[in-house]
Amino acid sequence: MSSIKVESSDNLDLAIPKIMSVAYLQKPLEVSIEQEDVPSVSGREVLVKVMAVGICGSDVHYYAHGRIGNRLVTYPHIQGHECAGIVVATGDKVTRFKVGDRVAVEPGVACMSCSWCKEGRYNLCPDVQFLSTPPVKGAFVQFLKHPEEFLFPIPESLSFEHASLAEPLSVAIHAVNRGKLKPGSTVVITGMGPVGLMTVVAAKAYGAKEIIVTDMEPLRLETAQKLGATQVIDISSTDTIKEIMQVTSGLGADLVFETSGNVRALQSTIEMVKRGGSVVTIGFPNTEEVPLNVTLMLQKEIDLFSVYRYTNTYPLAINILVDLGSQIEPIITDRYSLEQINEAMYQAYANRSNSLKVIVFPN
Ligand SMILES: [Zn+2]
Ligand SMILES: [Zn+2]
Repeated sequence: MSSIKVESSDNLDLAIPKIMSVAYLQKPLEVSIEQEDVPSVSGREVLVKVMAVGICGSDVHYYAHGRIGNRLVTYPHIQGHECAGIVVATGDKVTRFKVGDRVAVEPGVACMSCSWCKEGRYNLCPDVQFLSTPPVKGAFVQFLKHPEEFLFPIPESLSFEHASLAEPLSVAIHAVNRGKLKPGSTVVITGMGPVGLMTVVAAKAYGAKEIIVTDMEPLRLETAQKLGATQVIDISSTDTIKEIMQVTSGLGADLVFETSGNVRALQSTIEMVKRGGSVVTIGFPNTEEVPLNVTLMLQKEIDLFSVYRYTNTYPLAINILVDLGSQIEPIITDRYSLEQINEAMYQAYANRSNSLKVIVFPN
């Protein structure tokens, strides 16, 4: 498998060099390491020494296909948006952070003055600058410039790699908020990739009683169980809907979260959910249009929610990760240095059976 870099051996030096390494996606499936000037900061900007970056499903998609829907990569591109690090410099107007502080980076920098931002739905800001979403460059760099409003302190007890999980966990927290998950409820989560697994974590933290999950990869189902799933269903060998009905005494689930992007899974949510229940869609399907049984949806009066990124989730995500401690460990399967970025991206792309979250350590 991968080479393992132990965090304690990482370079925690606070000195700022002139030149840093940056990973550029040059074309699909090809990343190269280049040298570039370390950015300088002013105003409310903070310079973060990037200590850990998780590879996201969206990174893998851009890496392999050069696009998501009509959003095209402009080459060369820098990927990565799930990151944490140490503050090494602050602009003259920074008030919340000082050199040496450990931080998690919220990647989407919204304008905070449009109507959506003012409403608190800043994930919908039309001017959001989201790390790694083209044309905005990302976090596969040794030093990252970021505004202090989108940085969050992390305690010593939280490792940088665990702190980088605050990003995918934020998606899951936003999803359980959107679905208004109540303590004691029964939920189904389809797809046990990293976001599905994080949805297990969030659903458990919000007090779900039964957490039924589906996938066909044994490693994913096993990991879900370690993280709190109460029932795992292998869709390759089970009649999933029948099984869910059996487990829920014929009622269906209060809430169904679809994280896989699989068209068939999305269509089945209408059948899995109980009358008057809610469906929350998180995973992007690989086709834009998906036929749904709207008649059944109406008859069951189902609430359908979609989820796009998240808002105001980081402090809670960090608290949950601190509480979980080493229990979150099984989700991280691979660790690489920035120089090994090609292997890291390829592992995340090609090794679906043995790989969950791949972490890159730029320093
Ligand atoms: Zn992500
Ligand atoms: Zn805005």
